[in-house]
Amino acid sequence: MSEPAKRTAPPSRRVFAILPAAGRGERFAPGAALPKQYHPLRGRALIEWSIERLLAEPRIETLVVVVAPGDPHWPALAARHAGPRLRTATGGASRQESVANGLASLEGLAAAEDPCLVHDAARPCLGAREIADLLAEIDRGAPGAVLAAPVVDTIKREHADGRIETVDRNGLWRALTPQVFRYGRLREALAAAAAAGVAVTDEAQAMERLGESARLVAGSPFNIKVTRPEDLQTAARILGTREADRMRIGQGFDVHTFGEGDHVVLGGVRIAHTRGVIAHSDGDVVIHALCDALLGALGQGDIGEHFPDSDPRYRGADSRTFLREVAARMRAAGYALINADVTVLAEAPRIARHRGTMAEHLAADLGVPRSAINVKATTTERLGFVGRGEGLAASATVLLSAGSGPRD
Ligand code: MG
Repeated sequence: MSEPAKRTAPPSRRVFAILPAAGRGERFAPGAALPKQYHPLRGRALIEWSIERLLAEPRIETLVVVVAPGDPHWPALAARHAGPRLRTATGGASRQESVANGLASLEGLAAAEDPCLVHDAARPCLGAREIADLLAEIDRGAPGAVLAAPVVDTIKREHADGRIETVDRNGLWRALTPQVFRYGRLREALAAAAAAGVAVTDEAQAMERLGESARLVAGSPFNIKVTRPEDLQTAARILGTREADRMRIGQGFDVHTFGEGDHVVLGGVRIAHTRGVIAHSDGDVVIHALCDALLGALGQGDIGEHFPDSDPRYRGADSRTFLREVAARMRAAGYALINADVTVLAEAPRIARHRGTMAEHLAADLGVPRSAINVKATTTERLGFVGRGEGLAASATVLLSAGSGPRD
């Protein structure tokens, strides 16, 4: 639904990204069989959130995920995210080495001046704004930019003899990721650190050794690093709140009057009846109510606007074609159906035994699991137009979520 932000100046450089994920996360679960980056977080692996966050930035041309040699967990995830923008490289003994290997794998593809972001698989809550802010610094000519948070707590240093002292926190920042540097200089800096036997804990430190100072860019407090098992719960809450912010609800209602005929069509099922319905199309109130609910959730008007009954193309139309078209609109808008609940209001015909088939049709047309669709029926206790057998009606409620791409 949301449009990409307009850029003030066209980006001049191709952007690359490295995601080192060759470590095991020993602080997370010492000796565990499953490395930290593959632990589940809201229905997917921790690392997948970082991958999706980075690939959601359209300027990133290639993302290199650096995994341990022979990593048995990666191939299945790689297949799930496979595409021309995703590459895999083999990591080394340290983060520093893994990043260097990832950079080396871009040899011949990245130019020396191209910006290269380095992130961390354990920071799944990275925001789109943070990536944009980092790249904006590079666009303004900075040699590098580091996401960071000012230190707000009072800082203590404990000495070997147990004595503690207070460290002046003025000017202190915590370095987060991503960090972004020019491809060529970053490779030189990491090679120089390695040659000198210096272990750096982030890329900025390697650059500092060459006298190149990056800009500090304030990161979001939600961009946490998953270090301990309980951090997964914090991350799940942050991501859950974002997801809830991107949900949309819709409802629809449709009525058709009984007329001449020997059947009605409900949820794409032809059901024998002593009457038919008066309609331009097949008069499927289930699908019409569902289409209206979906269009309502998308903020795209109603079924009458999209499939006007003044249009001869829709005479006698199979309403399932409407549903498939609305489903395509939903996907094009970046939304996925979480669930739909439909109620048919009719005194007759009895539809209880057709509910399962109707739900199967709706699920197939929407491209969702059968479990996402519920169809139920009620009479109106002989009250009103339904009760008097003058026609039948359906209501539908849907919940949509903006796909996996971040929009914050
Ligand atoms: Mg209708």
